[in-house]
Amino acid sequence: MSDTLQISEIPVEGYERVVRGVDPQTGLHAIIAVHDTTLGPALGGLRMWNYASEEDAVFDVLRLAKGMSYKSAVAHTGLGGGKAVMIGDAKTIKSEGLYLAMGRLVESLGGLYTTAEDVNTSIGDLEIVRRATKYVTGLSRDSGGSGNPSPYTAYGVYLGVRAALGWAFDNDDPKGRTIAIQGVGAVGGPLAERLAEAGATVYAADRNQKRLDALTEKHGVKQVKAEEILSMECDLLAPCALGGILNDESIPELRTKVVAGAANNLLLKPEHGKALSERGILYAPDYVINAGGIVNVSVEFHDGGYNEEVALRKIERIPQALKELWTISREEGIPSSDAADRLAQRIIAEARAAKA
Ligand code: NAD
Repeated sequence: MSDTLQISEIPVEGYERVVRGVDPQTGLHAIIAVHDTTLGPALGGLRMWNYASEEDAVFDVLRLAKGMSYKSAVAHTGLGGGKAVMIGDAKTIKSEGLYLAMGRLVESLGGLYTTAEDVNTSIGDLEIVRRATKYVTGLSRDSGGSGNPSPYTAYGVYLGVRAALGWAFDNDDPKGRTIAIQGVGAVGGPLAERLAEAGATVYAADRNQKRLDALTEKHGVKQVKAEEILSMECDLLAPCALGGILNDESIPELRTKVVAGAANNLLLKPEHGKALSERGILYAPDYVINAGGIVNVSVEFHDGGYNEEVALRKIERIPQALKELWTISREEGIPSSDAADRLAQRIIAEARAAKA
């Protein structure tokens, strides 16, 4: 076991703790940001990325940690927000020693931050981290964890899509609606299945032809070219592939009444929320509608441990959260994306005041 891990604080206004861990022996260079723990211990994934500089890594981890606070607040997970990033090329730096050192860095926060899987880290990597700290979630069911979050995210998105249809058309029944899905992977695939089963006409685009063919064969999903899905005429567009696809180029081309999908950071910039509302398009903010996965993980923190029934009941509150922020959006004349941030800030502030 290495004893060369150096831990230092990075003071950042508005964040409870930001720590840097550097271990020359294993090559670890990581940052953990704990944004806010008013509502509970900070939960957020462990990302590995080849950042050009530590400054870039800090910028990213701060943004992501705050996003987790807001996501958890609106989903009422009883958790706060945090995130961790390891700087380096995932193809070359991964090693057992590296993940053990990362585990010791997580452990040094004494439970203020709990980690989980994220971009470029796998359940297998986290099993190693788990040997150095108990503050790890989202492990397999066999290890007592809540397992793969994607089916739960998909269930939440499906319920959110129904809520959005109800809000936009006064009828939440997908039957007879035309739905376009960009990306039919771990979340978009099950979403397409559920919507097709509920009687919607589902169009989908994906770079993976096999996935599309399977959905066409089993559920009659109609295939669309990847470059045409965003501008096709439909009742609801569900982007379930990439972030940043709602931007200056795509928004004027949209021919949908609603955008409601799983992908993170759908708006390229915050002002694109306004651009959508100016076009009269109802938007389900990404971090609210795609919270099913984190809600599922959060149930690991309950007394008695993970329980699927409890997770499902909590995910079924996503439509209520969406309706709450669409109401704020309407009453205060602000885009629903801004209303989501405002709702999150309000929930955290109220909890802070109650504690004080
Ligand atoms: P995934 O990798 O399983 O699926 C993404 C799919 O999109 C793939 O099939 C891929 O081929 C396709 N794709 C990529 N580029 C495309 C393009 N230009 N046009 C059409 N299709 C394209 O990922 P996922 O787990 O289904 O996640 C989808 C999105 O939802 C991501 O943005 C992810 O961050 C977000 N999300 C996922 C979860 C979860 O629990 N998995 C939770 C919250 C948010």
